[in-house]
Amino acid sequence: MSNGRATHDSPLTGGCLCGHLRYRVRHIQSAYWCHCTMCRRASGSAALPWLTVARADFEVTAGTPARFSSSPGVTRLFCGQCGSPILFDMAQEAGVDVTLGTLDDPDAVAPTHHIWTQSALKMTAGLGAGLPRHEAEREE
Ligand SMILES: [Zn+2]
Ligand SMILES: [Zn+2]
Repeated sequence: MSNGRATHDSPLTGGCLCGHLRYRVRHIQSAYWCHCTMCRRASGSAALPWLTVARADFEVTAGTPARFSSSPGVTRLFCGQCGSPILFDMAQEAGVDVTLGTLDDPDAVAPTHHIWTQSALKMTAGLGAGLPRHEAEREE
C-alpha cells in the first residue's frame, strides 16, 4: 500500500522483533528521517525513520512496553524482551513518534523530510535523496 504520502487514515499495525509488543496507529501526521545522535544510539542504526501520530492514535494492543527516560520529559518505549525501540513520547508535545521500521508494512508510509541533518553520517548520503533537509528540528 505505497501511496507515497505520509498521511494514512486506515489503521496500521506493527510490533517488536520477538512479537511480545503489538501496536496500532491511525491518522499518521508526518513521517521523517531523524539523524540525531540519540536516535542513533537508541536504535543502533545510522538514521532512524519515524512516523508521528496524535497520542490518542497510538495504542498498544498486546504486551507491556518497557520505558526509558532519555531526557527530562521524554519517555522511550521499547520491548523489554527483545529491545526493539517502538515509541518516543515528549510530554509537552501533542504527538508521539513511532519507529517506522516496526510497522508490519513499513512501505505503507513514506518519509517526507529529514531532521537533525547537522549530525548526519556520511554513509547516509543518498538516503531519502531529494527530500527537504532540516539541520535541527523542523519549524512547523
Ligand atoms: Zn520484543
Ligand atoms: Zn532523533
